[in-house]
Amino acid sequence: MRLARFDGNRFGLVDGDDVIDVTEALAALPAQSYPFPRTDVLIENFEKLRPALEAAAKSGARKKLADVMLLAPVANPGKIVAAPVNYKKHLEEARADAGIHHQQQVGEIQKVGLFLKATSSVIGAGETILIRHDERRNDHEIELAVVIGKTADRVSKEDALNYVAGYCIGLDMTIRGPEERSLRKSLDTFTVLGPYFVSADEIGDPAGLDLVLTVDGEARQTANTRDLVLDVPTLISWASSFYTLHPGDVILSGTPEGVGPVVPGNTIRATISKVGSMDVKVGHI
Ligand code: MN
Repeated sequence: MRLARFDGNRFGLVDGDDVIDVTEALAALPAQSYPFPRTDVLIENFEKLRPALEAAAKSGARKKLADVMLLAPVANPGKIVAAPVNYKKHLEEARADAGIHHQQQVGEIQKVGLFLKATSSVIGAGETILIRHDERRNDHEIELAVVIGKTADRVSKEDALNYVAGYCIGLDMTIRGPEERSLRKSLDTFTVLGPYFVSADEIGDPAGLDLVLTVDGEARQTANTRDLVLDVPTLISWASSFYTLHPGDVILSGTPEGVGPVVPGNTIRATISKVGSMDVKVGHI
C-alpha cells in the first residue's frame, strides 16, 4: 500500500499516477489529548487501519498525483535517526574532498555512530528546500528512509525488519563545514521525505534497491542499497541498542558517493526502485 499526505492535510491511497482521497478513514484513529504521544499515531495504527483505508478508496475522490502538493508522508516522526558515511565509496570521497571533510577526520560509521536530525527539518516532496547560507556549500544526499512501525527496544538483526512499517525516499540535505552534523543537517526543510509512504510488504528485502539522484537532469548519485556498510536490519538493531525506536521514527540509512552542491533554482530528482520518484525544488529563504 502507498499512502500520500497532500494539500491541506488530506490523506490518500496512491493508485498508479492517481491519489484517492481516503481522509475519512482517519476518523477511526484513537482520540488523543494533551500531552500528545511522541509517536506518529497513523503509522502506529497503520496495519489496523488498512481495511478502512481500502474501503474508503472505493468511493474516494481521485486526483492526479502530479496535481497535488505532496507533504511528508510521516507527519509526526518522534526522531530522525541518521547514518553517516554508510557507503564505502562515499567514505573514500569524503576523505579525498576537503570541501566535504573540512580538515576533520572522517571515521567509519562503526566508530562515529548515529546522529539525530531535528524533526522540524522535515518537509514533503511538494515543498521547497530553502537555502539559508548561500556562502556555504549545500549538498544533496539521497538515502533510503526506513519508517519504524512498532516499538523497538534492543531488537536483534534477525528480527529487525519485523519492526518496519514501510519506506520512503529521504533527502538528507547538508551544509558542509566544521560544525556538528546535527546542526548542519537540521535546517528547516533539510529533511525531505517522499514522495509517499510505501508499506514494507511492497518492498520485501530492502537490500538491492537502486538509488538515483539527478540535479537539473545531471547524474550525481547512482548506487544500490546492497552496498550499505551497515544494512537496514543492522542499523535498526544498533540504533535500538541505544534508544527505543517508536512508531513513526525514521532512520535515514546513509548516502552513497556522488554528493554535491545545489543552489536556488535547481530541481533534484530522487528515485529509489520499488519506492518511487520525486522532483524537489531548491529555493531561497
Ligand atoms: Mn546522510
